[in-house]
Amino acid sequence: MNLTERQQKIIEIVKQNEPITGDNIAKTLGLTKSTLRSDLAVLTMTGILDARPKVGYIYSGLDFEPMLQDKLSALSVQDIMQAPVLIKQDTSVQDAVTALFMYDVGTLYISNDQDELVGVLSRKDLLRSTMMGNHSDAPVAVIMTRMPNIFVTYPDVPVLKAAKSISRHQIDSLPVLASRDSKTVVGKISKTVLVNLLIELTDKEQNA
Ligand code: ADP
Repeated sequence: MNLTERQQKIIEIVKQNEPITGDNIAKTLGLTKSTLRSDLAVLTMTGILDARPKVGYIYSGLDFEPMLQDKLSALSVQDIMQAPVLIKQDTSVQDAVTALFMYDVGTLYISNDQDELVGVLSRKDLLRSTMMGNHSDAPVAVIMTRMPNIFVTYPDVPVLKAAKSISRHQIDSLPVLASRDSKTVVGKISKTVLVNLLIELTDKEQNA
């Protein structure tokens, strides 16, 4: 939610003259009180101004902070993406498990010799491989999810759009490719980073 220029002026007037009646705010602005009715309603409903009967308007001391949705819409994938963990397609299943623990991640991205994304390997892929009795020396290329079946995103994509893609496809993360005509992985957007972002944004909102 964005405040209009007039609403911001009203806040300034109240800050400097509180308590001040609606009539006096209108006079200061050279407008009628009825013109200001909806602005004053917005400012009191959002808690920025306090309306005291027979006294007037008082500034409640809350500094206006953009709402969560405004903050989220201002963010792109590049603002929150993390470093990806990449392994080669001839890495063994056993070494992939070690990499999961070593880097403390849930998903590994697989690249070819040209450093292009060719696959995704998750915890479930590794469990399935074990259940099927695959040899731990087998290369990850045998069990990974392959291109072109990989959902990806790009640095300039809005965070909310990437989050929707993760939710719709029921996956834990999206590899971030450098651009639409590149297969180079430059980052990762995961459910974890999205949850952390939500906490960070709402914490700031509550502490404002
Ligand atoms: P987990 O195995 O921990 O549940 P996911 O839900 O991310 O992790 O993975 C489920 C399946 O989806 C796995 O087979 C994995 O290879 C695949 N997968 C993971 N990420 C993607 C992606 N970005 N695009 C396509 N498939 C993916």
